[in-house]
Amino acid sequence: MIDKFLKWLTPTRYPVTAITDSTIDLIMETAKETHPKEMLGILRTEKASKINAEQYTEDPTDRIIVGFNIPPDLMTSSTKAVFSSKNMPINNRNVGVVHSHPNGVIRPSNEDVNSGFSTGSIHIIAGHPYGEDDWKAFESNGNETALRVIPHSQIEYNPAEKFEQYESDFYSES
Ligand SMILES: [Zn+2]
Repeated sequence: MIDKFLKWLTPTRYPVTAITDSTIDLIMETAKETHPKEMLGILRTEKASKINAEQYTEDPTDRIIVGFNIPPDLMTSSTKAVFSSKNMPINNRNVGVVHSHPNGVIRPSNEDVNSGFSTGSIHIIAGHPYGEDDWKAFESNGNETALRVIPHSQIEYNPAEKFEQYESDFYSES
């Protein structure tokens, strides 16, 4: 579950229709390393047209998930992930959150839907044992939605901001 985190996410709902395979890999790696605690990351997207990925989306303005950031003050347990939004950048590429369920149940809890998912366009839940298919995407109302997995090697995205920038804070918890 997620307590509160999305006040600073963009209120606009963007069409998010795809995710790169490398992002899935990184989610699962992080979830494994964090287990039995939850992992949580802020999803980062780019417009398909910006990363030369229009062939994978219906509309060139659709957004593709290209990575995630771990909040600097994230605290997690096996059933909970909490952070404060005050140190996080606000920008329109942050469209939702990924978090893991160490109990392996890949569907949102009531608290996820009622609190955590209250803003943002899309949310991903990864479940133990974190195999490549052990995840699903959900809209903010908790309904499952489809995300196309596209090969990172076929797009032009080189994150100048590194995914790992907050890792030292994140791992100091365990
Ligand atoms: Zn949850």
